[in-house]
Amino acid sequence: MKSSSHLTVGNGPPCRERSHIPPYAFSLWDWINAVCISQKSDFFTLYPTRAVWYVCATRRMIQHATQWLVKNGWLVVSKAPHRGIGGAGTYRVVRHAEWVQRHGFKKCIKHAYDDAGEQIS
Ligand SMILES: [Zn+2]
Repeated sequence: MKSSSHLTVGNGPPCRERSHIPPYAFSLWDWINAVCISQKSDFFTLYPTRAVWYVCATRRMIQHATQWLVKNGWLVVSKAPHRGIGGAGTYRVVRHAEWVQRHGFKKCIKHAYDDAGEQIS
């Protein structure tokens, strides 16, 4: 990291979802988002067994990550999951642009630049 007496904070590269979501939950969110993009839909039905295979996690981890994503606004429950056949929950995926509308930019990563305009953090 270079030092400079005149640091400015610019917009820099856009802050992204992974700046806000812990890795264990991000792998699930990223998979859901990728599937949604490929299916041109914002809604995703989460079958825990499938998630275990794709995200390489245990059911408990998938459950924990799902709860974190819902609690922190990265997934919105569209149909709540329940036990048994047909019990898979459906969620709407929330991306960065929508998330900051609700939560603000305060927690977004800002990048610092030196006098030459070079990014230093
Ligand atoms: Zn951000």
